[in-house]
Amino acid sequence: MNKIPPTFYETSNINSIKIDILNEIILQRYNILSKIFEIFEKNKNVKENFSQIFSQIQIDAQKFSWNDPNKLELDIASHFILSLYFCRHDSDNFWFCQQESRLFQLKVNYFKYDMFETLKTLGIPLKEVDNNIKNNLNDKIYFNSINNINEKIFFVPFEHALTLVPTKKYFLFKGDIYIPQSEIQNLLFIVFQQKLQNKLTKIQKHFDDIIQDNRISNILKHFESEREKNSIEEETIPNDQKLHRMEDVEKYYKKSFPLCMIMIQNHINENSHLMHFGRLQYTLFLKGAGLPVEETLKFFKKKFEKKTPSDKFEKQYAYNIRHSYGLEGKRSDYAPYSCTKIFNMNSPNSQECHGCPFKNYSVEKLKPILFGLGLNEENVLTILNKKKNNEFPLCCIKYFEAVFPGEEYEKVGFHPNKYFNSAMKILSKRNSNKIQYENNKEVEMKQN
Ligand code: SF4
Repeated sequence: MNKIPPTFYETSNINSIKIDILNEIILQRYNILSKIFEIFEKNKNVKENFSQIFSQIQIDAQKFSWNDPNKLELDIASHFILSLYFCRHDSDNFWFCQQESRLFQLKVNYFKYDMFETLKTLGIPLKEVDNNIKNNLNDKIYFNSINNINEKIFFVPFEHALTLVPTKKYFLFKGDIYIPQSEIQNLLFIVFQQKLQNKLTKIQKHFDDIIQDNRISNILKHFESEREKNSIEEETIPNDQKLHRMEDVEKYYKKSFPLCMIMIQNHINENSHLMHFGRLQYTLFLKGAGLPVEETLKFFKKKFEKKTPSDKFEKQYAYNIRHSYGLEGKRSDYAPYSCTKIFNMNSPNSQECHGCPFKNYSVEKLKPILFGLGLNEENVLTILNKKKNNEFPLCCIKYFEAVFPGEEYEKVGFHPNKYFNSAMKILSKRNSNKIQYENNKEVEMKQN
């Protein structure tokens, strides 16, 4: 058993680290957390595969020496900066806290930290129940959580384990909560999570003061732009998985667009119009999906024609569309918006349609939409439960899994174009399987 206690990130110091190293490790930690998120959401048996998952993570974590107390500064600094970055919005806050807790869980398992010692140093007085008392309590203690009748039982004043109480899994008696040895890990994770949550709340309160420090605000800005780039890193999309002509938008949107883009397309179909932020979000998405600028212009012109004559369209909208493609003004190559950028857009008013529906729509509004798109009750309830928890990326993942059960995906919930790429890959695979099947059948028929 490892005698070194795991870190709870109670102090932070970034002063001794060079900025370029800080920038690099922050991005690296973020990538590790994103990977953890995907692995945990895709893998139904994570608990049985902790060591394997941690080994996978370690490949990307070369800069972190999680088990060397002398080299913890990069770990602590990157955790601190990301706490600052993610503390501002509830959904980010939840996501960050969840991934950091999972990382903690993986480390505790992998390095076999001494949990009792760790809890002791945290001031949590865990005591073993002596055998006489244990025999008297047997009936009461052994409900859901027991693994083995001879297992040791510990107790702790319940104020140290408040979040265990509502689970109704543990026996509560005279102000103490009784926990079997095999469940002590849970207590440790909960303590970690509570501490992190409290810290994020504190940081959030002082956020404006903290970013007065230029060094910190520059690091956050740098991370923000790197994260945007990183979320849609260059990948060569095969031709058959791109949009080529304006007709492809109608053909594919229900099958392969994420919900935010389906809602925008529905809005255009119904209103023959789309306000500024929606146009921006959608144009950049279409650009990322491969649609050439001439086709995007044709698409909007056609869709708007009921309300917007051609010359007005040219004057009012064509410039902005070409601008998004980097053909006007500064000629910057604007990247399609990531999910985070979309989550953080202003809430749409009644005439607008931009943003993420998992975030912006109420449960009552979302429910019939999901049923209307063919999802079954179980899937709809799963998504709505995640939504109630502000887990918007996870809603998107669950939506994808409902539309494409059992299929592979990558970075869904991080970027709408990644959703599209994953969906198109599946459709293309299905299409070639179908062609192959038909060819085989034709050959068979000829042979007969
Ligand atoms: Fe769109 Fe991202 Fe929301 Fe999914 S999570 S609907 S891709 S913004």
